[in-house]
Amino acid sequence: MGRAGARPRGTVESMAKDKKTVIVVGAGIVGASIAFELQRRGRQVTLLDKGEPGRGTSFGNMASIALDFAAGSGPTTWKRIPRWLLDPEGPVWLRPSYAPKMLPWFLRFVAAGRPSRLKEIEDAGMSLCRRALDDFRPMLDAIGAPELMTEEGCLAIYETEAEFAGDRGHIEMMRRYGFEHRVLSGKEIQDHEPTLSSKVAKAVLLPDNKSIRDPYLLVVKLVEAAKAAGAAFVSGEVSGVERKPDGSVRLRLSDGRHLEADDVVLAAGVRTRFLAQALGEPIPLETERGYHTQIMKPGISMRYSIIWPHRAFMVTQTAGGIRVGGNVELAGLDAAPDYRRPRVLVRHAQRVLPDLKVEEAKDWMGHRPALPDTIPIVSPSSRIPGVWYATGHGHLGLTLSATTARLLADMMTGAKPPVDMTPFRINRY
Ligand SMILES: Cc1cc2nc3c(=O)[nH]c(=O)nc-3n(C[C@H](O)[C@H](O)[C@H](O)COP(=O)(O)OP(=O)(O)OC[C@H]3O[C@@H](n4cnc5c(N)ncnc54)[C@H](O)[C@@H]3O)c2cc1C
Repeated sequence: MGRAGARPRGTVESMAKDKKTVIVVGAGIVGASIAFELQRRGRQVTLLDKGEPGRGTSFGNMASIALDFAAGSGPTTWKRIPRWLLDPEGPVWLRPSYAPKMLPWFLRFVAAGRPSRLKEIEDAGMSLCRRALDDFRPMLDAIGAPELMTEEGCLAIYETEAEFAGDRGHIEMMRRYGFEHRVLSGKEIQDHEPTLSSKVAKAVLLPDNKSIRDPYLLVVKLVEAAKAAGAAFVSGEVSGVERKPDGSVRLRLSDGRHLEADDVVLAAGVRTRFLAQALGEPIPLETERGYHTQIMKPGISMRYSIIWPHRAFMVTQTAGGIRVGGNVELAGLDAAPDYRRPRVLVRHAQRVLPDLKVEEAKDWMGHRPALPDTIPIVSPSSRIPGVWYATGHGHLGLTLSATTARLLADMMTGAKPPVDMTPFRINRY
């Protein structure tokens, strides 16, 4: 690290003689997991972020390890979209001024829902989700934080029989992929979760969908563990990436410094798109903005996390109270948050959790890094040897963090990944 090409001591470059060096760009849940995994596999890692670790999208997600992968696009979704877009309280909002910019992404999204492609996407998504818990638990053990995962599962709730029928496709998919689930009705629902209203007509228990008590703390602990194992954390914003004649990769930072390493991993969430663009391999990465309200004094405590598929949001018991959040707002990276959105979610939540109080509450917005075909990019660059990508995890970045780290580290260290990585290549578009 140094000013414009200087070669200071004690940094990434000077350690290159002993160990292969890696710079991981982005200290969200994805980058932090990768940094930890590579450091413990003997690489000399520098984790780089323009802000504090874990303060991006990974700060405020709904904390769910959600194994029941669902492709975003498909005939059922297409049918619902017009109704969603017209409903001011619906699960998807599109800011009219942003609609023209969304068009290319949206066309790809529609194409990803063709029946033949849908099956490939589901197979690929499930190949990752199926391993998520088996990769997550050892990662938590290795950083000394197994208690961050709750052992209770998740309840998908349906206010009416019609809502339940409307989710038939997803339930059928869980059956096809052997995903454990159990349909509950009537009193069984309150027996499982007494805080739920008796107006909830149906629920599906998803025992394997665990939660993380504090997703931000998880990132902090991963970074601490990576540092304890010898990794470095550097503050700085990457503005350019290039390959040097000697084969190493050079990062240009916005303050004029440069960093070099044998390998570079781009895990900068939705902003990875700017770096990919600069490298000449553009990716259709969009922000699906989402909101949460963290309620410090909710007046209730819940055993299960709850997902309401019809309204596309979750309620999760976290270490700091109850978190209500989800939904999708398509408005780009720069528009100011519209905190009327999370208030709608809280109102919906109070319908099914009648004793939920909203005292000492805080709203938050984050940017899901979303690709039109729902599955992430976990891949070497198609143009520059030594550059790797881990991005586009959309709604499942927390869920797939440990698996992404494991699979990318396999590819980078020459081990054979246990799943076919072809579907996650960068040049699939
Ligand atoms: C409301 C909501 C609920 C969600 N719920 C869940 C859930 O329950 N389960 C689940 O699995 N997922 C969930 N997600 C999705 C999940 O949070 C994301 O997929 C995940 O956080 C993405 O992680 P990331 O590390 O890729 O990105 P981020 O957390 O955004 O991290 C990227 C980092 O890169 C840094 N960066 C960006 N550009 C640069 C640059 N040029 N130079 C240096 N640093 C840079 C940023 O500062 C940031 O720290 C949810 C998301 C939202 C919004």
